Amino acid sequence: MKYDRVYNFSAGPAMMPESVLVEIAAEMLNYRGSGMSVMEMSHRSKVFQQIRDEAEADIRKLMGIPDNYKVLFIQGGATLQFAMIPINLMKNGVACYIETGAWSKKAIAEAKKYGDVRVVASSKDRNYSYIPDCSDLDIPEDADYVYICENETIHGTTYFKLPDTKGKILVSDQSSMFLSRPVDVSKYGLIYGGVQKNVGPAGMAIVIIREDLIRDDLDPKTPVYLSYKTHADADSLYNTPNCWAIYCCGKVFKYLLDLGGLEEMDRINREKAAILYDFLDSSKLFTGAVEKKDRSLMNVPFVTPSKEQDAEVVAATKAAGFDNLKGHKSVGGLRASIYNAMPKEGVVALVEFLKKYEAEHA
Ligand SMILES: *Cc1c(COP(=O)(O)O)cnc(C)c1O
Repeated sequence: MKYDRVYNFSAGPAMMPESVLVEIAAEMLNYRGSGMSVMEMSHRSKVFQQIRDEAEADIRKLMGIPDNYKVLFIQGGATLQFAMIPINLMKNGVACYIETGAWSKKAIAEAKKYGDVRVVASSKDRNYSYIPDCSDLDIPEDADYVYICENETIHGTTYFKLPDTKGKILVSDQSSMFLSRPVDVSKYGLIYGGVQKNVGPAGMAIVIIREDLIRDDLDPKTPVYLSYKTHADADSLYNTPNCWAIYCCGKVFKYLLDLGGLEEMDRINREKAAILYDFLDSSKLFTGAVEKKDRSLMNVPFVTPSKEQDAEVVAATKAAGFDNLKGHKSVGGLRASIYNAMPKEGVVALVEFLKKYEAEHA
């Protein structure tokens, strides 16, 4: 590898496309004749305005975002959205949550501060190793929304079919699957993602919200920054935004458009995931931690028969140039995060390594 980089299987922050990093490096000291870096630039300048506007236009094109949805760039990562969602969307004070792991549990805990939270389905009984049946949920008439974590970063599950919300608004945390496959935005009231998993640097969430859900009648004590209206009215420039993250994400949007869009990204991601899952399915040493029908294409947790061997494999992979394969403590074992920017060669090389390890330790 030209830049002596490792295959980084981190769950986030995670790999970015190398060609994007090269472009960013080339523009670091003097962005297109402006005489300055994007980090040094006024967020009110014409040159930054163009960066912001292009980023929005490009993500709209990529995801096919309808005109009646706003795209907001908000600081505070995905975690701030756990609070902003109930603060802004709980009108009746009732919301339904589907509990599929650590990230939905955090969202539930936060929402409980603001209203009546009904957990209408859960996969807790088998340590969140599957997506519960969401075809006939008990959703109260006055529910303001139904909330899902569409790809569970820690537990490695994903929804291949969206829940039947019985006509209520669907709210989705797409942090660890953002831009990994096509989505029909019109099926959601709100989609959000922290960008450091699958797009760019940490410190920002992208929120895609249907315009009619943006309210001007929030509790007057709501911090101005936590109202979606503040960000929507100011085109995400109410205060100094995370200019650097917007710029880097914009580069990734262009990279994905050039690649052929989200259909092509999805094809590549399926191919990569299949290489790893086919190996796990045929291995006698390694076992996938998730029910087959619900397996994430982004985060792949797997285990050996013992904790000691898990640790040994993690150490061996690290020594061989595969980084960050240690599983999350709540699942144990190993986890390979194979986001958009992980090249197919990285997955192939990892599987070759694990095969060899298995043969040597049979
Ligand atoms: C990482 C992650 C979060 C939290 O993201 P931050 O930007 O660190 O707040 C929330 N949800 C999911 C699904 C995640 O993977």
